[in-house]
Amino acid sequence: GDILKKRKIAVLGSRSVGKSSLIIQFIDNQFVESYYPTIESTFSKSINYKGVEYDCDIIDTAGQDEFTILNQKHAIGIHGFVLVYSVTSRKSFEMVRIIYDKIIEFSGQNTIPCIMVGAKMDLQQRQVAPQEGEELAQSHHAAWIETSAKTNKNVAEVFQLVLGEIEKTTPTSKPV
Ligand code: GDP
Repeated sequence: GDILKKRKIAVLGSRSVGKSSLIIQFIDNQFVESYYPTIESTFSKSINYKGVEYDCDIIDTAGQDEFTILNQKHAIGIHGFVLVYSVTSRKSFEMVRIIYDKIIEFSGQNTIPCIMVGAKMDLQQRQVAPQEGEELAQSHHAAWIETSAKTNKNVAEVFQLVLGEIEKTTPTSKPV
């Protein structure tokens, strides 16, 4: 039938790594130089993945730090996770590891559909090499990509890849 498949995707990561910019570029095709800190917002978009339309809710979160207690709604009922760091911030890269572990702990699963995203790849002040991102993702059975919301590089790919991870891990579409 033509029933739309529903997918909930949570975008997590340290504050100001570029989560909102990534989502806004994907949804509105624009880059806003200074975006207000997000409390939390949900964006809806229909995404075609391999010829199938998915009705996606993309949840933009406020940002996490090492002291954040993961909110239940960020781990329960979510089909896929986009964990964002900035390639210009080593600290935000370390935070991806911490957030991943918290989701695993929270969900009680040993693996989750996940992509790790190195944002702001257009900037020169790099603190995280591509290879480090790729290796971290590999060791967690996650997908990985670097993006620039500013130049619209690899932005749509993030959402293709996370849908791929969701289909791979949970073909029955059971959320975490
Ligand atoms: P969030 O707190 O993770 O949602 O981060 P924002 O999306 O609000 O971005 C934080 C700051 O980084 C803003 O000033 C953005 O304009 C900037 N920014 C976000 N993405 C990029 C990018 O791809 N390239 C560059 N150069 N700046 C970016």
